[in-house]
Amino acid sequence: MSSVIPIRPASIGCTDVTPLVERGQREVFCGLTGIIWLHRKIQDAFFLVVGSRTCAHLIQSAAGVMIFAEPRFGTAIIDERDLAGLADVHDELDRVVSQLLARRPDIRMLFLVGSCPSEVIKIDLSKAAQRLNQIHHPAVRVLNYSGSGIETTFTQGEDACLAAMVPELPSQTDAQPALMVVGTLADVVEDQLRQLLERMNLQVTFFPPRNSQAMPEVGPSTRFLLAQPFLADTARALLSRGAKHLSAPFPLGVEGTTAWLQAAATEFGVAPDVFENAIAAPRQRAEKALALQRQWLQGKRIFFFPDSQLEIPLARFVHRELGMDLVEVGTPYLHRQHMACELAWLPPGTRISEGQDVDLQLDRCLADAPDLVVCGLGLANPLEAQGISTKWAIELVFTPIQGYEQAGDLAGLFSRPLKRRTKLAA
Ligand code: SF4
Repeated sequence: MSSVIPIRPASIGCTDVTPLVERGQREVFCGLTGIIWLHRKIQDAFFLVVGSRTCAHLIQSAAGVMIFAEPRFGTAIIDERDLAGLADVHDELDRVVSQLLARRPDIRMLFLVGSCPSEVIKIDLSKAAQRLNQIHHPAVRVLNYSGSGIETTFTQGEDACLAAMVPELPSQTDAQPALMVVGTLADVVEDQLRQLLERMNLQVTFFPPRNSQAMPEVGPSTRFLLAQPFLADTARALLSRGAKHLSAPFPLGVEGTTAWLQAAATEFGVAPDVFENAIAAPRQRAEKALALQRQWLQGKRIFFFPDSQLEIPLARFVHRELGMDLVEVGTPYLHRQHMACELAWLPPGTRISEGQDVDLQLDRCLADAPDLVVCGLGLANPLEAQGISTKWAIELVFTPIQGYEQAGDLAGLFSRPLKRRTKLAA
C-alpha cells in the first residue's frame, strides 16, 4: 500500500460546510489551563498568573498531582486591597517578581499571564513586562500574554503564549529551507517525530523549545508544520516573520501522521522510497494497534462538544480509522484554512457546529442519544447520569496522542468509556 494518502479535492468532504453557528453560554476552561502543559515543556520558564484566588484555585487543582516541590507556575493575587491604587499593584508585582527571581535563579523566561477579574484587566501587563525587562534582562526575559476566560478557550492559552514568544525568535541566518514543528508536544512524541524526520534526512526544530535559551530561528526560509490545531495567532505571527505554513492534516492516527509527514517530505523533496522506509515499521505497529480498538468502536455514534479545537481532527480520525459515526462535531472556532485538509476528509453532511449555546446543544445531544460524548468536565457527570458514556476533552490534550506510536493509545481513550459501561452493565 502506498503511504501517499491523497488528500481529496477541495470540493468534497465537508470543505464547503456551513456550520451551525451558536453564540450562547459556553462550558469551557479558560486559557490559564495551558500553563499545565506549557510549564512542563519550557523547562526554564515560570508562569506567573496575575489574577484572583479563583485563578489560583483553578491552576492548582488543574495541576493537581503534577505540583513539584518547586513548581514553575504561581499566582500573584490581586485582591480588593490593590484596587485602592494601580501604582500599588505595580509595586506589588515588581516586589513579587524580584523575590521570585532571587529565590529561583534557574528561571530564564518569565511569563506574566493575564486573567479576567476586573481589577486585573485594568493593569497593562505589557507595560509591566517592559518595565520588569529593564530590571531583569538579560538574566531573565519577561513576556506577557492573556489567559483570560473572557478572551480564550483553554487551548488558546498556548496560542497566546507562543504568539508572545515569536518576536523573541532569532532571525534565520541560513538561506537553506528549514523545517519547524509548531505546537507543544510531549517530549516522547517530539523525539519520535524528530527520529522519523531524520530518517528522511530532514533536520527539524520544535517550537516551543524545551529551553528558552534554545529558541529556533525563523525567517523566509522557514517552513512550518502545525502539530496542534489551535495556533491561529502563532501561525499568523510566524507568517509575519516570513515563514511559510505547510498545509497538512494534524498528526493524529495513521492517516493524519502519514499525511503530516508527507507534507514535509514533499516540500523538501524526499524520495518516495526514503519516505516509505522511514515510516514503514511504525505505521505497521500503529495499524495493528488500531485494529484491536476498532472492534469496540466500529459503528458507535459519537458527539463532540466544542472544547479544545482538536474536535475536527479527532472526528476525522475516529470516523475514517475506527469506523465511528459522527453525530455532531462541535468546535469553539472553525479556522477554515488550518482545517482545510481535515474538512476534506470528513464525510459529506457531517453536522459541524461552531461556538456554543450549551442548553441547545445538550438538547440536541440527548435527542440524538449517542454512544459516546466528548465534552468538558462540567457536562460529563450529568450526561453519564443520563446513561451516555463520556470522555473528558481535556484528557485528549494532556495525553500524548500524536504520531504512530500513540495511535493505539488515542483510540483507547475512546474505547475505554464504552468498555467501562459494558462492564458495569454486566
Ligand atoms: S482567568 Fe477568569 S475564568 Fe480563568 S480562573 Fe481566572 S477568573 Fe476564572
